[in-house]
Amino acid sequence: MLDKFQEECGVIGIYGHPEAAKLAYLGLYALQHRGQESAGIVTCEKSRLFVEKGMGLVADIFTEDCLARLPGDIGIGHVRYSTAGSSLLKNAQPIVVDYAKGPLAVAHNGNLVNSKSVRSRLEKEGSIFQSTTDTEVIIHLIARSRKEGFVDRLIEALMEIKGAYSLVILTENSVIGVRDPYGVRPLILGKVDGCYVLASETCALDLIEGTYIRDVEPGEIVIINSDGIESRRLFSVNKTAFCIFELIYVARSDSIFFEKSAYAIRKEFGRQLARETAVEADVVIPVPDSGTYAALGYAEESGIVYEKGLIRNNYVGRTFIEPKQSIRHFGVKVKLNVVKDVIFGKRVVMIDDSIVRGTTSRKLVTMLQNAGAKEVHMRVSSPPTIYPCYYGIDTPYKKELIASKYSVDGICTFLGATTLAYLSLEGLFKSVEFGKENFCTACFSGKYPIKLPCFFKI
Ligand code: AMP
Repeated sequence: MLDKFQEECGVIGIYGHPEAAKLAYLGLYALQHRGQESAGIVTCEKSRLFVEKGMGLVADIFTEDCLARLPGDIGIGHVRYSTAGSSLLKNAQPIVVDYAKGPLAVAHNGNLVNSKSVRSRLEKEGSIFQSTTDTEVIIHLIARSRKEGFVDRLIEALMEIKGAYSLVILTENSVIGVRDPYGVRPLILGKVDGCYVLASETCALDLIEGTYIRDVEPGEIVIINSDGIESRRLFSVNKTAFCIFELIYVARSDSIFFEKSAYAIRKEFGRQLARETAVEADVVIPVPDSGTYAALGYAEESGIVYEKGLIRNNYVGRTFIEPKQSIRHFGVKVKLNVVKDVIFGKRVVMIDDSIVRGTTSRKLVTMLQNAGAKEVHMRVSSPPTIYPCYYGIDTPYKKELIASKYSVDGICTFLGATTLAYLSLEGLFKSVEFGKENFCTACFSGKYPIKLPCFFKI
């Protein structure tokens, strides 16, 4: 059985800017939603790499002093979130090595599906691994390649790996962006002050006043160096498989995908949800922040008033000290609280973007009922999440996904809601007008576009 070792991450790369480290830092700041566990920046000056990595949030790790230790005009950065067990500084990225051909740093967003077999082969052949990340496998493959030029070595390495990867790579004289042939995770190319930037999302460009040029294409390698920019192709596949969950949950709402903001896309999911799952009610409330945009769309389409019936404490970290005396629903209550006068005596439609284990929604339903809601109608702006993701979204094993165990009616009973309804898969794609065939919908459909090894536990 393979450990489900998932990483949601954000990456950034800057080429040829005198303030490369500061721009990388700001880019990571804007990409913080993609990973809050660790962050790192690597820069290069005179063929030497400079590295600063730490656990925690970007703003806490990178002080002025820390950034001053990152000279050079090229650099890459990474923010990482991973599931428990792998939360160690040694797994923080970018991963940095000095091998026979020079210094190298790699930042990776996504997950490989064959890293375990490649890793055990390499270990049998003598390779020693420093971390448990699958990114290190790529580095070993690059280092072992007999090809002459770096890009050829990189291509040879990429031919051996399967899965989702948006990579930003730093060598002593170049910044390289790679997107896997299916284009599962995002990667964009932009410019700031005439210098090239690579980033996971456009919101990183906005903060540093950069301009968006284009997406790095699925299967494309973009090489940025003193000669300018060159594009090479990895093998191509018939269909791409961009992760639909990026649009539903992961990406920041101000980021642009296919010329639309995630905000507009999510709002349209909400409108379509209202068309498909209308219910008589007095008020529409979002689960903050994930359900906000769909709730706006739902309210507009249904004509039911939108209110903020749940207030989020924006200062809650990942852990908090619980008093000995037990407080019911403490974990959720510390993050979200009910505004009683919005809820009391009302028929409430509560909107969220997804239900994973169902534990949050269940507690919220109870909290609304305790606050005097007459009815609680839960609406979800995506289809039931039945299957785990193996390409980089942190979803649990199948048995922990409530929609894999129960029917919609069963989930409704578990939540204690008056009614429950999800957006259909057809509705999801109808509302964004993108071709379903170009997306990965594995978490809803179980159709995994990149073949999983047979020992994978779904
Ligand atoms: P649950 O209580 O497990 O059903 O969690 C549902 C909540 O988790 C929703 O508010 C979602 O927006 C949020 N969510 C969905 N996917 C993820 C993810 N990969 N990481 C963290 N939160 C998520």
